[in-house]
Amino acid sequence: MPDLAQRLAEVDARIGDAARAAGRDAGELTRIVVTKFHAAALVRELHALGVRDVGENRQQELSAKSTETVDLADLTWHFIGQAQTNKARAIRRAAHVVHSVDRARLADALDAAAEPGDPVLDVLVQVNLTDDPGRGGVAPDGIDALAEHIAASDTLRLRGVMAVAPLDEEPAPAFQRLADYAARVRAVIPDATWISAGMTADFAEAIACGATHLRIGSAITGERPPRA
Ligand SMILES: *Cc1c(COP(=O)(O)O)cnc(C)c1O
Repeated sequence: MPDLAQRLAEVDARIGDAARAAGRDAGELTRIVVTKFHAAALVRELHALGVRDVGENRQQELSAKSTETVDLADLTWHFIGQAQTNKARAIRRAAHVVHSVDRARLADALDAAAEPGDPVLDVLVQVNLTDDPGRGGVAPDGIDALAEHIAASDTLRLRGVMAVAPLDEEPAPAFQRLADYAARVRAVIPDATWISAGMTADFAEAIACGATHLRIGSAITGERPPRA
């Protein structure tokens, strides 16, 4: 059974291979380790191995683990899950980046949660690449309005788009659509250069399609323990 350091090194080597194959520089990619369902101790182990970007998809876990590791001041916490507006304040307190803004009401709640002196919060528009509204994300025809809504907020900074690959389609064409949406957003908001895409099963395809932020869980952390 390979250990955490080996799995991390192996994933990073595969990221390097995929970047080279796509004619891209791996140095321009941010590898986020998704630690959901794992204990805060794993975040500590990852930090000792040099990991600085970690991701969570549930607010309670994000809040608990970021509090337990508050001494690791150089960690960047990425919130990547569907969020209820009543969790916006807690998310804003704990996360440095929110990848999953999929409606104006959530953007407004995150904006309203800003306290005096808070840094601007980096956010991405989550796009739904499927026809199933239950999968989260704004439908493609709503991207532009949501992006402009976010860009008008003083306390949020739109950095780009995020998506999860569909279950019933090859990831490459879906990620290509995401890249097209990202270009459309960038034409209006030049700052929005990030594309958050690619998980354990499909990060090579995401890199080939221009992803800048990879969200990788089980390939690095091992099997997730059952949800508490
Ligand atoms: C869990 C999760 C990931 C990581 O998934 P793996 O398949 O374990 O790499 C990435 N993105 C989101 C939104 C997730 O919920």
